[in-house]
Order: sequence, then C-alpha cells, then structure tokens
Amino acid sequence: MEYRIATISGDGIGPEIVREAKKVLDKVGQKYGHNFNYEEVLMGGISIDTYGVPLTDEALETAKKSDAVLLGAVGGNVGNSRWYDVAPNLRPEAGLLAIRKGLNLFANIRPAYLYNDLAGACPLKQEIIGDGFDMVIVRELTGGLYFGERHTETVNGVEQATDTLVYSEKEIRRVAIKAFEIAMKRKKKVTSVDKANVLDSSRLWRKVVAEVAKDYPEVTLENMLVDNCAMQLVMNPRQFDVILTENMFGDILSDEASMITGSIGMLSSASLNESKFGLYEPSHGSAPDIAGKDIANPIATILSAAMMLRFSFDLDKEADAIEDAVRKVLAEGYRTVDIMDEDKKQVGTTEMGNLICDRI
Ligand code: NAD
Repeated sequence: MEYRIATISGDGIGPEIVREAKKVLDKVGQKYGHNFNYEEVLMGGISIDTYGVPLTDEALETAKKSDAVLLGAVGGNVGNSRWYDVAPNLRPEAGLLAIRKGLNLFANIRPAYLYNDLAGACPLKQEIIGDGFDMVIVRELTGGLYFGERHTETVNGVEQATDTLVYSEKEIRRVAIKAFEIAMKRKKKVTSVDKANVLDSSRLWRKVVAEVAKDYPEVTLENMLVDNCAMQLVMNPRQFDVILTENMFGDILSDEASMITGSIGMLSSASLNESKFGLYEPSHGSAPDIAGKDIANPIATILSAAMMLRFSFDLDKEADAIEDAVRKVLAEGYRTVDIMDEDKKQVGTTEMGNLICDRI
C-alpha cells in the first residue's frame, strides 16, 4: 500500500527524532510491503525564519491532503530566542494550535505505559506498580473550558473573571466513540471521568457516554469523579485501560499519568479527527538544551509513528512490530541518556533508531 505522510520536523531536537521515526517506518515498509511517501511541512520557528509566520496556509493544505501527519516538536528556548519577541499568535507554538484547529483534531490520545525494564524510573512504590500498567487517556481537545466564552470585568469596584464550560451532545458523542473504538482494540474497559456531582456539563457527559456504551456491549463502562481519578492514578494505576474525559480534566490527568511512567522521552501521542486522519507526535517538547547533540531519545516519536500505523492506517501487526522492537532494545539494556541507569549501555539518537530497525 501507498501512504502519504506530512512530516513536520520543527525545531530543536525535532529533525533528529523525526529522522529516526522515518527510518523505522521505512524498515516496516520494507518488511511488510508498504511505501511511505513523506512531504516535509514547515511549522514553528523554522517557518517563522522562512516565511515570517509559524504556519502558512499552504503548509496546512499540504497536511490536509496527506493521510496522516508526523510531528517532531516546535519551539525554542522561551527565555532566550528571537521567536518570542513577537505577539503570541506569531510564536512557534501558535502553529501547533493552528494546525490542531485547522485539522479539527478533537480527540487527544495519550498512552501511559510502564515498561518493565524502566520500572526504576516510576516514582510509585513497587507494590503499587506490580507487573506494570498500560493505560490510554482519551481527552476531548477542542471544547469545554478552554474554548468557551471568557471575559474579565469590574463589578461594584471589584474585578472578576468568567470562563464558560460548554459541551454539546455532538462533541461528547464523537470523542466517546473514539474511546470505545480504542477500548475494543485493548482490554475493553472505559473509565469515563467527570464531575457529575456538581457540573451540568458532566451530567450531560455521563448521559451521552452511557448512550454510546450501548453500541459496545463488550466494553465495560465505569464512571469516576475526577478527584477520585486523580487519587486512583497513584493508588492503583493498574485498574485503568481507557480513561475518557473532557478537555481540562484530561489536560491535568494525562500529565499525571505520564509522570508516573517516569520517562518523558518515551511517551507518544495522537490527535484524531472524525475520520481516520490524525496528527502523531511525542508528548515532550523541542528540548533546545540538547538539540544537535545526537543524545535525544527518539522512542516517543517512533512510538507515535506506531500509533499512526494503528489508528490511521489500520496496520496493527506493523505497529506491534515497532512496539515489540522497542521492548527488545530496552530489554537488551540499550538506553539514551535520559533513561540511562547503572550497568546499561548508553547510545545516541541515531544508534537507538538503528537498533530498533535491526530488531524489526
Ligand atoms: P521539553 O519537553 O522540550 O524539555 C523538558 C526537558 O526534558 C529538557 O531537559 C529536555 O532536554 C528533556 N527532554 C525532552 N524530550 C527529550 C527527549 N526526547 N530525549 C531526552 N530528553 C528530552 O520542554 P520545555 O523545555 O518546557 O520546552 C522546550 C520548548 O518546546 C519550548 O519552546 C516549548 O514551548 C516547546 N514545546 C513544544 C511542544 C510541541 O511541539 N508539541 C510541546 C511542549 C513544549
């Protein structure tokens, strides 16, 4: 099969980690008979340097015409970069918001997986992590509090600020469907997280999610209040399979879930729209402090490419091949510096990519 992938290498370590992910994709293509054709799109600081804006309309059009987008990271050293002496809508990260909006990416998928071989990096006690945890957070990305009407005013001489949390049935339904579809490919459990004891939007959320659940009788649905979920994530993370939640709760819970894995350089993510289209990127940023040194961990980007194969192209066994190769390389003791431990073998960005290709 032929696939058209828009790549956005971006800034900092972006070009190094995207290069390794492409190498791994090409290896999978060779083995399973697929052709991945890449078209590079400029976004972030490099686009500002070239065109004066973080994302051009042409770049967005190229992304729209592709089958999926693979992104490294954008942005520079915030305290010390020419890209930040301008209005917020002209800074590198504005490109990220513009592309998410332009592609209507309403579902953000972030796996939080603890590799046995990296258990030492997990801040939780061994008796809590047991034989590890493997969950996915599905966060609604284009609605809720971050997109509602907001204003600041002075009432009777006192300043006050208002943010509005609005969710429509349609917005809840489409992200719930994504969560149940993902659960069907996993352990078939969805934990829907809300604050239904207080918020009307959460009560609507719970009602619509229950309706969607009827179409997936094999999937177990449980409802959990967000404050309880924040506790359960550190008390018993093994209970979770797919966590489905709204924008702000998901923002906070997905960071909590990723931090209990202990290794930011390992965490992939996907943002999906209504069709099979998605934008795939590591959870970390452009790490300008280590750019160009061949020491960045490329695994989060490589695993994001595996997510692309699974979610956008339905290539499950090809995605498995990448994930298995990553597990093997870790089990053999190879580590980039960010996950380095005593008695392990330290390798650079390029060598880590080569090792993963070899194991595929
Ligand atoms: P960051 O994630 O880039 O870096 C945080 C720390 O983690 C740094 O010490 C960095 O060296 C390390 N790190 C990150 N990724 C790594 C990897 N793959 N291998 C090894 N070490 C890694 O976060 P930051 O420093 O807060 O932000 C740097 C820039 O990235 C900023 O301009 C920020 O706005 C941008 N950013 C972009 C995205 C994105 O493009 N999606 C996301 C977050 C931050």
